[in-house]
Amino acid sequence: MTKHEQVVADNGMCPIPPGFENAHADTPKYLEMYRESIENPDAFWGREGLRLDWIKPYSIVKNTDFTFGKVSIKWFEDGVLNASVNCIDRHLKDRALQTAIIFEPDDPHESSRHITYRELSEKVNRMANVLLSQGVMRGDRVVIYLPMIPEAAYAMLACARVGAIHSVVFAGFSPDALANRINDCGAKLVITADTAPRGGKRTPLKANTDAALLHCSDKVRCLVVRRTGDQISWTEGRDVDISYMMEQVSPECPPRPMGAEDPLFILYTSGSTGKPKGVVHSTGGYLVYVSMTHEYTFDYHEGDVFWCSADVGWVTGHSYIVYGPLANGATTLMFEGVPTWPDPGRFWAICEKHGVTQFHTAPTAIRALMAQGAEWVDKYDLSSLKLIGTVGEPINPEAWHWYNEHVGKGRCPIVDTYWQTETGGNMLTPLPGATPTKPGSATNPFFGVKPVVLEPQTGVRIGEVECEGVLAISDSWPGQMRTVWGDHERFQETYFSQYRGYYFTGDGCRRDSDGYYWITGRVDDVLNVSGHRMGTAEIESALVAHPAVAEAAVVGYPHDLKGQGIYAYVTLMNDQTPSDELRSELEKWVRTEIGPIAKPDLIQWAPGLPKTRSGKIMRRILRKIAENDYGALGDISTLSDPGVVQDLIDNRMNRG
Ligand code: ATP
Ligand code: MG
Repeated sequence: MTKHEQVVADNGMCPIPPGFENAHADTPKYLEMYRESIENPDAFWGREGLRLDWIKPYSIVKNTDFTFGKVSIKWFEDGVLNASVNCIDRHLKDRALQTAIIFEPDDPHESSRHITYRELSEKVNRMANVLLSQGVMRGDRVVIYLPMIPEAAYAMLACARVGAIHSVVFAGFSPDALANRINDCGAKLVITADTAPRGGKRTPLKANTDAALLHCSDKVRCLVVRRTGDQISWTEGRDVDISYMMEQVSPECPPRPMGAEDPLFILYTSGSTGKPKGVVHSTGGYLVYVSMTHEYTFDYHEGDVFWCSADVGWVTGHSYIVYGPLANGATTLMFEGVPTWPDPGRFWAICEKHGVTQFHTAPTAIRALMAQGAEWVDKYDLSSLKLIGTVGEPINPEAWHWYNEHVGKGRCPIVDTYWQTETGGNMLTPLPGATPTKPGSATNPFFGVKPVVLEPQTGVRIGEVECEGVLAISDSWPGQMRTVWGDHERFQETYFSQYRGYYFTGDGCRRDSDGYYWITGRVDDVLNVSGHRMGTAEIESALVAHPAVAEAAVVGYPHDLKGQGIYAYVTLMNDQTPSDELRSELEKWVRTEIGPIAKPDLIQWAPGLPKTRSGKIMRRILRKIAENDYGALGDISTLSDPGVVQDLIDNRMNRG
């Protein structure tokens, strides 16, 4: 057990800290609202739908069917609204001069900017008029390939204003990955920037787009934002200077009335498990869900400064940088850079500078900063923080405690939010005023979410509170994806075929005696060692808890005696060197932390791990290397640093 364990009571719970007496929900209220959301979704969501402004009100709330072969998901289907009106226009009456977006540039010496709701309105209207001038019509697809600059939010909202469907492609992606997405969704237009400063370097976005467009229809046009003024090449007739155009057009663009079920955006999943899927989200249900989850999970109140450090290229950025906060009239922070530049104190410098009240990030960032030492956090004044969040992967207890102690100072609740690109918003999450937390658990379902644990082989629903199996959801919620773009069959196959009548998440989970949920990792990652089923996350957490270890990834490989052997890739702390002694020490460590059954059979020292651009470990690649079958690594287009892979292959431990 670690030195931090004292914050946790004997029953494993961290109580609700003081300061949340006026939270949106306390425990009895959560229970009561949750009960109603499950027993009477029409009444519950019918009321919550009113958090939006509707051009034409809905009369039907929920119309959903999880039956394989005829899966159909509709919410508020006869309502008419416009997402940009809900994120902008309706706030102008009371908060035109309030900051909507704080922009913090990559370079700390460049000044940050405060964009008011009035300014946001003008920019979005102008950009919407530029889109119209380029022939963009309702239902057309627009790819957005921009860095973390306010123009990314303007572009998303401008699409929403004219009824176009946006698909944001993370600015770290290669020309190939960009071309695939442009082609998959049949985009009419790409919005990009000249170059993008990030971590002191510059990504040549326009040049990447030029390269991508060689593989796309020559009808695709390219709008260019001048971010740095760097020199770029220009194709007359295809490329358009968006800043110049925005000055030419009117600052008013009437919003297009959209059906609640009209798609708002397409977003491709991270590709951790295979070829990315074009996830389609709706206008009405999605917006209701992200507005409500943003308000309750992060206990958002007037005057807060909300910062989610994700990139707009991921769903977390869509829901909790742009749509959720802006629908709620909040101040949202956009950071262009990376956590470790110019030094590993950058996140905390920004929190101090802007008086951030809620800070939300990913375990991968926490682990990376933890490896750099707590002195980088401790020198900043983080007293403005009320709450801190984590999303994207199970957070291992070691990282949780570090985050709690050094960032939250033991007084900020940690909201561990479990969800997926597909789910639109948080599915399992504590509510700060209502849910005592447990390090490593995403705790309880959000309103309207009915999680079930299924027996993996039979698909039978497990009735006991305490159990382990695969996580499925037994009924629809408004933020759920509607289809895979252009492939409703794949949608049904992927999520509704294996366990009939349920939405299958693909994740394994455990429910403890308090009814708390613990994600154990992807189902594909569950190991079966001598007949014992084990989540890789647990073994990884044990390894990371060792002081010498910065990061670990565990996969299975065929083993003659055990069925599956345990193969661990271990990244050491900066000041450690690999040795055989350390290897046997780690083996012993896992034995004592979990049990003899979990002892790794092979440990490979890994200077780096293959990760998606969103920082998730790609275990399927590690599995191939562990299986000594590295010839066919599958789709690696979303890998952030392909160089890492060759090193792992060269130093693989299983050559048999
Ligand atoms: P792909 O679906 O293309 O393989 P992906 O699943 O990584 O990629 P995302 O939608 O970005 O794409 O990630 C969702 C997944 O991330 C979840 O299914 C789960 O495995 C993991 N996850 C997210 N948040 C948490 C969390 N708080 N705790 C545990 N796991 C989480
Ligand atoms: Mg997934």
